[in-house]
Amino acid sequence: MKFDELGLRAETLRALTDLGYETPTPIQEKAIPVVLMGRDVMGVAQTGTGKTAGFTLPMIDILAEGRGRARMPRSLILEPTRELAAQVAESFDRYGKYHRLTKALLIGGESVKDQQAVLQRGVDVLIATPGRLLDLFERGQILLADTKLLVIDEADRMLDMGFMPDVERIVNLLPPLRQTLFFSATMAPEIRKLGNKFLHNPKEVSVAPPASPAQTVTQRMLRTHTDPKSKRAALRGLLDAEMDSLTSALIFCNRKRDVDVVYKSLKRHGYNAEALHGDMAQPARMETLRRFKNDEIRLLVCSDVAARGLDIPRVSHVFNFDVPVNSEDYVHRIGRTGRAGRSGKAFMLATRDDEKLLASLYKLIGGNIQELDSPGGETVETPAVLEGAEAKPRRSRKRRSGRDEAAAEPRGRPTPRSEPAAVAEAVEAAELPAEETQAEELEAQATEAEVAQAADKPKATRSDGKRKAAASKAPQNKASEGKASEGKASGSKPAGRKRDEAVGETPFGDHVPAFILREVPAAVLEH
Ligand code: AMP
Repeated sequence: MKFDELGLRAETLRALTDLGYETPTPIQEKAIPVVLMGRDVMGVAQTGTGKTAGFTLPMIDILAEGRGRARMPRSLILEPTRELAAQVAESFDRYGKYHRLTKALLIGGESVKDQQAVLQRGVDVLIATPGRLLDLFERGQILLADTKLLVIDEADRMLDMGFMPDVERIVNLLPPLRQTLFFSATMAPEIRKLGNKFLHNPKEVSVAPPASPAQTVTQRMLRTHTDPKSKRAALRGLLDAEMDSLTSALIFCNRKRDVDVVYKSLKRHGYNAEALHGDMAQPARMETLRRFKNDEIRLLVCSDVAARGLDIPRVSHVFNFDVPVNSEDYVHRIGRTGRAGRSGKAFMLATRDDEKLLASLYKLIGGNIQELDSPGGETVETPAVLEGAEAKPRRSRKRRSGRDEAAAEPRGRPTPRSEPAAVAEAVEAAELPAEETQAEELEAQATEAEVAQAADKPKATRSDGKRKAAASKAPQNKASEGKASEGKASGSKPAGRKRDEAVGETPFGDHVPAFILREVPAAVLEH
């Protein structure tokens, strides 16, 4: 099928030709005609399937006639994270370049005043995270009475992140006579039930997930000692061994505190690295992402929340500095490489404290990951090899909150247990207060002061792209200014917690007990 058979306007087709899009993806083929007919849609599709264009393209055509009135957006797209919202906004710019639609992006960490000013001028498309939208609504800055087209994107993630009550509140503020498009990567019964609450006689469209990373990504694991210094040295070993074939890489850490420490350590060792995590002010996050996408940054050290769902097509390598606490995050992480049929490489560091997490991960992906005997070295014999096997991403039905990740502190030698038991134990151990999961409100309160503060910081400088670049660049984000130092954890804690900030918190607050930091003698580690 061709794009011009879908019923899209000539201007929209022209924008697609400019982008080099030749044929619609399956979700686009199925969704676009239905949306253009004005029907509600319940769509099952993951990121990477072309889903964004699947709803953006027909929306542009539907909205082409008419204009948004002051504070009364004509359409609304709800996204679970700021980065995803920003990505959708970029899609509108790309696909709508021959239209004169106006849009506003309402996300935490950006200036409320600027967002109010844009809303005041009237917008056709409002792209928002639920918390910031409700905040502006409560300030009387938005009226949703004219919003006749609603998109709830990534519904499963909204549910996971605890945003559904906010989403329900928002939906109740919209006129009942509207068109609603509801997308989710999976359609578990609870998500379907929610969808049915929001939708009227929807057409169900569904596509298979994109090729499993297991088919396109070579996966390897390296055992290291548990102390952070050894882990960082092992990471550098892997990086050095891979440097020739590495175009750009994401390095995932379980805790945002470690994101900061690893990023600083890499910089100190002369690598072209930057950090991306929830503590950074939004403009700094966006700027870092932009530079990474433009190949100005080669290594991006990040947390799961900051990097999830990002569409960065050229990542050649993914490094897991830690075994993820939530096994599903592993699939998301390595899925950042090997995209669109390209091949990619994924490496993971594992310590003796990770047995429980590894057991849970292997259960999820249906096999073991081949181990290396050293960075760049040979693989060692392992029972079942994953390569070529079909990974089986599975979504847990229960919310996997930041608490799980917060509980990633090593605590003695674990015995292999089932994932639910492991997670339950971790949650219990974390003992974070319930308010931690209510943090979107706090995100929404991100003030101009925060933005102004970010503006005061030294601007990101261009890297020369060489591995052995000078290591003396100015830090470019709030978190970088913490007191983290080699081998020591940064204990600085933000005054107000935001939802994605909660992810990296240690269960011990500012105090890290001595036993956690104690180095284990090498002799003890040799089994
Ligand atoms: P999404 O699943 O919406 O995140 O899209 C994944 C990537 O596919 C994005 O980089 C899009 O620009 C790209 N894309 C979407 N639709 C098409 C298409 N029909 N042809 C080529 N690329 C596409």
